[in-house]
Amino acid sequence: MSARSAYTERKAMFTAFLIKYAEIGIKGKNRYLFEDALVRQIKYALKKCDGEFLVHKTDGRIYVDAQSEFDFDEVVTHLKRVFGIAGICPVVHVEDEGFEKLCGTVVSYVENVYPDRRKTFKVQVRRARKNYPKDSLELARDMGEVILNACPEMKVDVHNPEILLHIEVREKIYIYSEIIPGPGGMPVGTGGKAMLLLSGGIDSPVAGYMIAKRGVKIDAVYFHAPPYTSERAKQKVVDLARIVARYTGPIYLHVINFTDIQMYIYEKCPHEELTIIMRRYMMRIAEHIARETGCLGLITGESIGQVASQTMNSLIATNEVCELPVYRPLIGFDKQEIVEVAERIDTYETSILPFEDCCTIFVAKHPVTKPNVNVIRRHEHNLDEQIEELFRRAVDTEELIIAE
Ligand code: ATP
Ligand code: MG
Repeated sequence: MSARSAYTERKAMFTAFLIKYAEIGIKGKNRYLFEDALVRQIKYALKKCDGEFLVHKTDGRIYVDAQSEFDFDEVVTHLKRVFGIAGICPVVHVEDEGFEKLCGTVVSYVENVYPDRRKTFKVQVRRARKNYPKDSLELARDMGEVILNACPEMKVDVHNPEILLHIEVREKIYIYSEIIPGPGGMPVGTGGKAMLLLSGGIDSPVAGYMIAKRGVKIDAVYFHAPPYTSERAKQKVVDLARIVARYTGPIYLHVINFTDIQMYIYEKCPHEELTIIMRRYMMRIAEHIARETGCLGLITGESIGQVASQTMNSLIATNEVCELPVYRPLIGFDKQEIVEVAERIDTYETSILPFEDCCTIFVAKHPVTKPNVNVIRRHEHNLDEQIEELFRRAVDTEELIIAE
């Protein structure tokens, strides 16, 4: 048999997955919230895969049982996007048809999964169904012997085995030994909701991903400025929201027409302060929508010193207009580090598509890098006449897109 088809055959054995999660911090009454959110996110992730799956919580564990044919790689790829999963164990699960039959299954499991059998192992039994004729220790010992007879190259090591072969006796019998690493983090929905300021750049999708990884559900707002920014620039943001939604679940994307506000600032305020004042209005509008939709914070892709509007002085100016906390998970990241995450989560290729951005259209040749907040506030008074009306209109005419 070729290596390739052996590999395919090996994967075809698996009919279920045991989901491992880090249990730190989820003791007591938080535990079921954590598990229910994890089950919900797993079901959401598997909706995109071919096949039928039963996701269930049994004896404090989460299992995904395949109810039909499925593509192993596709399922693993999707499970690897579910925050809260520490590890994914591919499982062979079989009907209990007696010890002899089980021996045959376990031996062929070992032969298939470990083509190189020069390894140490230990059998670990968990007997959830107490009427099984052998107790845990007996079953572990007897199965150990059967494996040794069938695969003489293998050795038992009860302290530090290379292969820890689990046999779990429930209604059916579950056999597994491998762990594929998951993304870690907390299941989305366990940590409240936050509003991501999502532009078409590299940074903000990564920022949203990182906060979602802590269990926070994400809504997003995008400011566009037609006709200065095109439909394609907007589509790119929708596409980015969809990619981030693979990890977070559906994202409610609020698209705000920012043109009139931007033009008004351009008309009334010094050009070198344009970007800062624009950013302050973005934050104000984002906070307004956040409050209306139950978000507990804002998220941006800012990183200290990346551009003029992200110096510490500029950050004072953009921060002071909001009362909600502003989460800036990339604040200490270099661009290269951000790019690495963007590549890993698959947003990078979309982010670098060359469409105009509303912040770059009116950008001054020499934007202030050390804005004085008192001066900025004074200049904002130039907007008093119409800004409230423009603000209200921008919010009232939002377009809501559900990205999933
Ligand atoms: P990014 O790479 O995330 O697009 P950027 O490098 O273009 O950001 P800035 O333009 O200074 O940097 O924007 C800083 C942050 O402000 C962005 O990370 C994003 O959170 C938010 N932001 C900027 N422009 C927009 C926009 N048009 N719509 C929504 N949010 C925006
Ligand atoms: Mg940036």
